[in-house]
Amino acid sequence: MTSEVQNKGYVMLSVLKKKEENTQSCSTQNCCAPQPKGKEECLECHEKANGVLAKTVEHLLTGEAKKELSCFEGFYYCKTPSCEVVYFRDKEILTQKDLSVVVGLKVGANPATVCYCFEWSKEKIKKELTEKGETVALEEITAKMENPGCSCETLNPSGGCCLGDVGKAVKEIQKDLGFSNV
Ligand SMILES: [Zn+2]
Repeated sequence: MTSEVQNKGYVMLSVLKKKEENTQSCSTQNCCAPQPKGKEECLECHEKANGVLAKTVEHLLTGEAKKELSCFEGFYYCKTPSCEVVYFRDKEILTQKDLSVVVGLKVGANPATVCYCFEWSKEKIKKELTEKGETVALEEITAKMENPGCSCETLNPSGGCCLGDVGKAVKEIQKDLGFSNV
């Protein structure tokens, strides 16, 4: 009986100790800070980047990349097309190879997805513009945002609404195709 209690005591202590170690390593890395407000300069391209929610990062990383991180808070998203950094936090950098989705805004992305919730890519927009002279991308996305609603927080690498990026992509493609109304 006595030895059983002692055993239990030992097990519990070791579990407690393990928890303590985890918390400590987490706070040393300063990774459990609240959602970042404001912008941070990308370590690579030095452009200003917006903070992203932990759930965005957690949802989009590969299993392998997830194993390397103790938590997912405090990351910023670099949207510079020519910069290979996707997310960064202090000295930590995550690139395309750490993500399970293609980051459509980066140079060479294929497909160049601009709307992750309703699957609009630059290729699809270009096809519509070429064949019909116009694209319903913005109207369709706006309508679907109302119903059924979107999941940008977990599907879009930026963690935010894609409408700005879609608008920009449409203009860019129209210009490439020589549309005169741009
Ligand atoms: Zn960058």
